[in-house]
Amino acid sequence: MISTSILILGGGFHGTFLGAALKKYRRSKEHDFLILDPLPGLLASWFTTTSQTKVQFLRSSLSHSIAPNFHSLRNYALALGRTAQITVSEFSEMDYSSRENLDVLQPYFRPSLRLFNDHAREYIRSQKLEDYGLRGRAIEISPEKNRGYRVVCQRDEDVFEITAGKIILALGFGANPRIPENIDNMATEVLNPLGKPITPDLVKNKEVAVVGGGLSGGQVSIWALDSGAKNVTIYSLEPPSESRFDFDPCYVGPKCSQDFLLLSSAKERIDSAKLNRRPGTMTTEIFNSVLGFQERGKIRWDLGSPKGTQEPVFVTAGYHEPKLSLGQWIDSLPSYKGYPILKDDLSWASNIYVSGSLAISEIGPPAPNFIGAHLAARRILPQLGIDFGWRFDTRDEFQ
Ligand SMILES: Cc1cc2nc3c(=O)[nH]c(=O)nc-3n(C[C@H](O)[C@H](O)[C@H](O)COP(=O)(O)OP(=O)(O)OC[C@H]3O[C@@H](n4cnc5c(N)ncnc54)[C@H](O)[C@@H]3O)c2cc1C
Repeated sequence: MISTSILILGGGFHGTFLGAALKKYRRSKEHDFLILDPLPGLLASWFTTTSQTKVQFLRSSLSHSIAPNFHSLRNYALALGRTAQITVSEFSEMDYSSRENLDVLQPYFRPSLRLFNDHAREYIRSQKLEDYGLRGRAIEISPEKNRGYRVVCQRDEDVFEITAGKIILALGFGANPRIPENIDNMATEVLNPLGKPITPDLVKNKEVAVVGGGLSGGQVSIWALDSGAKNVTIYSLEPPSESRFDFDPCYVGPKCSQDFLLLSSAKERIDSAKLNRRPGTMTTEIFNSVLGFQERGKIRWDLGSPKGTQEPVFVTAGYHEPKLSLGQWIDSLPSYKGYPILKDDLSWASNIYVSGSLAISEIGPPAPNFIGAHLAARRILPQLGIDFGWRFDTRDEFQ
């Protein structure tokens, strides 16, 4: 039987970020922790999904990274001289491969995925975070008398148990991607953490269908055309739409979050948080490129669904409401539309805390994003006896 003080379930961005913050600020053995995830390696879900969507530049600025220090990624880039920049207007004038060696998109200092990922891998390596990673999927959580929790886990055919004093759930959307019902095509690829690599031979000389008109859908369409696809049809329920952020950023600070927290019930907060997210939007450079390809007849925007003649079909249509499979005891905890109803310290039950998309009842629209991990850490870590805040790190730190 494995035993730990704190068990983080999920080694995606949120679980890895919380692990990094615990590693950096913990004070004693009381703060020993493990990060459990069925995927091989920390951040595997992020690395796979982003590489499948062919995203080149992130929405967030250089201030956001896997390190708790807001200066870390910027300092890393400066130290390595990785500062080659382009502007949003130059983006559409270049082809996909010419943009591959660039580091920053202006305005707002948005890092390339390559720079962001190189920093993340180096941070995980230098902080030895993989030492805290454990492979396996949690399948049942139940309270132990006076001993925290017992977590039944599965790794391939093996079933094993972990006892933990405290648990942090960082499970993303519970891997519940939206796949339109009428798609029954052997060449369908759902772009998600379990998907396979998307290579140019899949699209060369093909008529490609992309389901979902957000950043991932737009970016994979641009990549497909630059990789030799004959044309692309983007199927989306809405016309093309542009937004720098995928949520209303005023919710990061008091301007909107104060009113959000004054809503009288968790149900109202969950509905309001969902309304103030902006799924299915493209950043300016992707939006402009998609419109440019549309004018040249290479991209067609269709407000319906694929008819079955095109292949391959790439599905980037977001996620259903979360669906957890963690046993009866977890199912008995209060929730609404699949989202846990949390206390303001982000606890769902005694010593069980939640970060990421599952925390929207308290964190609001930014909950799933990188900044949502900071906002969650600020509430969860003090409950574990660890001080955590924006102000802690010095400007010259990389770690
Ligand atoms: C192309 C792209 C670009 C993006 N750009 C930005 C950006 O610029 N800025 C920004 O803020 N956000 C961005 N996002 C959104 C951001 O990536 C996600 O919101 C974030 O990665 C979610 O992290 P997570 O850890 O909550 O979820 P996930 O990455 O889904 O991780 C959840 C983990 O939990 C594991 N898990 C699931 N069930 C179990 C279980 N039972 N037991 C153990 N482990 C389990 C999964 O295997 C997975 O590894 C982007 C997303 C994409 C796809």
